[in-house]
Amino acid sequence: MTHQPDHSDIRSGVARLCEDFPGEYWRRCDREQAYPTAFVDALTAAGYLGALIPEDHGGSGLPISAGAAILEEIHKSGCNAAACHAQMYTMGTLLRHGSPEQKRNYLPQIADGRLRLQAFGVTEPASGSDTTALTTTARRVGQHYIVNGQKIWTSRAEHSDLMLLLCRTAARDRVAKKTDGLSVLLVDMRNPAPGSLTIRPIRTMMNHATTEVFFDDLKVPADNLIGEEGKGFGYILSGMNAERILIAAECIGDAKWFIAKSCAYAGDRTVFGRLIGQNQGVQFPIARAYSQMRAAELMLHEAIRLFEAGGNPGEEANLAKLLAADASWAAAEACVQTHGGFGFAEEFDIERKFREARLYQVAPISTNLVLSYIGEHVLGLPRSY
Ligand SMILES: Cc1cc2nc3c(=O)[nH]c(=O)nc-3n(C[C@H](O)[C@H](O)[C@H](O)COP(=O)(O)OP(=O)(O)OC[C@H]3O[C@@H](n4cnc5c(N)ncnc54)[C@H](O)[C@@H]3O)c2cc1C
Repeated sequence: MTHQPDHSDIRSGVARLCEDFPGEYWRRCDREQAYPTAFVDALTAAGYLGALIPEDHGGSGLPISAGAAILEEIHKSGCNAAACHAQMYTMGTLLRHGSPEQKRNYLPQIADGRLRLQAFGVTEPASGSDTTALTTTARRVGQHYIVNGQKIWTSRAEHSDLMLLLCRTAARDRVAKKTDGLSVLLVDMRNPAPGSLTIRPIRTMMNHATTEVFFDDLKVPADNLIGEEGKGFGYILSGMNAERILIAAECIGDAKWFIAKSCAYAGDRTVFGRLIGQNQGVQFPIARAYSQMRAAELMLHEAIRLFEAGGNPGEEANLAKLLAADASWAAAEACVQTHGGFGFAEEFDIERKFREARLYQVAPISTNLVLSYIGEHVLGLPRSY
């Protein structure tokens, strides 16, 4: 088995950076539902968001284990990478399938922070998890595509220059397979014609800068088509293992944060004349969450090992995401319970992290859809949808 570097220099650098963004910073952003601009700027300036972009395109050219280490460390420090993590995986679509010219034009600017590629427009109100049912269309007219339709849950659209957009270029009933006829456009959102691009924020139970986006005859240069027209679904799928791995790393970071908080409090709080951590009713849920986290972490390392060896570890990446999301949720639950009433107090940050950790059961992919993948593609059971 090849040894994975633990990226200890990167981890300590990220942890140092995160010290400048303590709980008070995140509480203020959360209260005001404000985008954590200073945090994202600091990560960008330190080069962490360009870590996975190859060196000849202006990035650090690091492997995915480095991206996972960065995201895990952010979450382990009590911070949240949701404001900027998408750049790490969406840029992979451009890197793998973009033309040399597109890569030259965009990747160096993304790497040094001049351009933000944070928005990923896949989900639509009516299609939901059934991606191929999406109805946003792009019609080729001369040297442009004319885009019409609506996306929902397009996170960070207000704080991004570019959006990676999945849309239909051929109607579903005119293609042999429902996965055909979908295309990926790199949409520059900076100067749309008036009324052609409308972004409306959606307030959610946690601070996530998510939106709905409306396209009304939006003109996108045909040069911004990624790869071949009609093959976009495959391009998006090819980035899914990376996405699952990076999201699993965030969950592991969250689980470690909750477990550390729980142990510190359980070892300090005295009730009935003894530390609450002496009670097995308090200890065991923390110990169980720790066990779940370690098992998920091993699966994550296995997914990373196979990915970095050039494999296509769909099984391991999905398992890692499933197990890590469950572990972080178990740790979140144990943490609230360990803190009793204080688990609900804003100033302890636990209730905020608890709300944030809940998301991973639904997005970027819901637990049921991961289980369906395992049922069908790993166990050979009949397809359920
Ligand atoms: C805060 C937030 C941020 C997001 N950011 C983005 C983003 O940046 N870009 C983007 O494109 N999307 C984004 N999403 C969308 C996210 O990917 C979807 O919410 C998620 O994939 C689930 O889709 P849905 O909400 O339409 O649920 P639905 O597909 O309507 O499903 C509802 C429930 O039914 C279950 N279900 C559906 N079909 C089946 C089945 N066949 N078998 C078993 N169970 C099933 C699902 O698991 C789910 O629990 C975001 C969502 C949230 C909440």
